[in-house]
Amino acid sequence: MKKIQKLGHWIDGLEISGKSTEILPVVDPGSGQMIATVARGEQADVDLAIGAATKAFSSGKWPGLAPHQRSRLMLEWARLIGRERANLATLLSKENGKPLSQADGEVETTIRNLEYFSGWADKVHGRVVPLQENVFDYIRQEPLGVVGHITPWNYPLDIFARGVAPCLAVGNTVVVKPAEETPLSSIELARLASEAGIPAGVVNVVTGLGAEAGAALASHSGLQALSFCGSIEAGKQVLVAAAQNITPVVSLELGGKSPCIIFDDSDVTRAAESIAGGVCFNAGQSCGFLSRILVQKEIFSTIVETILNVLANVHLGYGLDDPDMGPLVSETQLERVLGYIQQGRREGAVLSLGGNRASGKMLDNGFFIEPTVFTNVEPGMQIVEEEIFGPVIAIMSFGSEEEAIEIANASKYGLSAEIWSRDLSLTHRVAAKLDVSHVTVNGGGGFGIEAPFGGVKQSGFGREGGWESILQYSRVKNVWINL
Ligand code: ADP
Repeated sequence: MKKIQKLGHWIDGLEISGKSTEILPVVDPGSGQMIATVARGEQADVDLAIGAATKAFSSGKWPGLAPHQRSRLMLEWARLIGRERANLATLLSKENGKPLSQADGEVETTIRNLEYFSGWADKVHGRVVPLQENVFDYIRQEPLGVVGHITPWNYPLDIFARGVAPCLAVGNTVVVKPAEETPLSSIELARLASEAGIPAGVVNVVTGLGAEAGAALASHSGLQALSFCGSIEAGKQVLVAAAQNITPVVSLELGGKSPCIIFDDSDVTRAAESIAGGVCFNAGQSCGFLSRILVQKEIFSTIVETILNVLANVHLGYGLDDPDMGPLVSETQLERVLGYIQQGRREGAVLSLGGNRASGKMLDNGFFIEPTVFTNVEPGMQIVEEEIFGPVIAIMSFGSEEEAIEIANASKYGLSAEIWSRDLSLTHRVAAKLDVSHVTVNGGGGFGIEAPFGGVKQSGFGREGGWESILQYSRVKNVWINL
């Protein structure tokens, strides 16, 4: 039998097994098999990691470096990730289940985050404020100190990098708690940071459960700031825990129920194909996944028909075989998604496609689900209100522009939205009225690391990406000098 790899935390530049002898299994969702174990972190491990990060910060080992030196080390880290690109993509695909080409794309985003934010390191300068004669007043843009990052399983590398790269650029040190489902790629990233010459203690990873290692991190008095991405329930607990020490939670991203509004003058085929592609991408397990499809009445049946045609031919398979769509991340997630589908049926939505656990050769042991389409949905149904986090969409129709905006905004979430139309004025008008932080027009789907992304309403707050990340992970100090 193949030996199962047993991994520890990455603290102070070393892999350590941690205080407890307890371990957690990491399961390949495509086969249902255990592929590795990681340490089940507890308070003492978080204390150790915060201690190492604090030492690396206050000794000046990292913030004391010249900004261009930090930048070079970040670039070297990016280069090593590039060298390990194939291995990292394989590891990510195995722990998460995503198709290999999507895992490879995520490694690319990780590299880009480090490249992009390394460029900011020597460009974060303060300002001089003209106050009055004989006073020289200036504002320093300073690092925060030790920043905690609690990351989810859907984009483990990307979300690690988008938070850690800007932190490092301004001189912070970090402790990352990856999701228990997908810790392997994060440990590997931290190992590569050390190999790149980033000083010990600057990048630490503590593995473990949310309620244990995650809670210990969120409530730690040694943190200067916290960034969290995950569910609303866990996000609320993190806010309460951080409040005990008045730790600012600078970024809290809690998912979405993003609307896609298709007007009758749009390129119908492109719109439908793009939506179907979104259903398959990461098996619908994306915060910005367009899961509420709003179609203008005149084109409703054409759009539905095209989406169904594309999705009926989707090839499900094992991530490393690079299928159209891989499995869900875990059995728990599979059961959750199937529960929502049952609820949708009970509430009277019409199941137009899928709805079942996928079976067949190669699929039986993994956590696969068919792409699923509901039509005839009504506001108030659970499948319309709640984030399912699986390849399930709900399609509904609208009449006027005003009605589309009203339906789109009738959600507790507010992360992203998409508009399809050839009418430029209409797209600008609607984009301005949508209660979200990110709008795409006529496809595109994703978001650039150079631009801000985050939530409004219960999707959270804070912005990751671009200059906003630098602002969020730094603080200002005003200095008044009497001349
Ligand atoms: P999901 O429900 O999609 O699995 P979670 O919100 O539970 O997502 O998990 C996202 C991240 O938050 C994971 O790293 C998880 O371990 C962590 N987490 C979950 N609960 C807590 C908590 N109470 N305190 C801190 N971190 C938590």
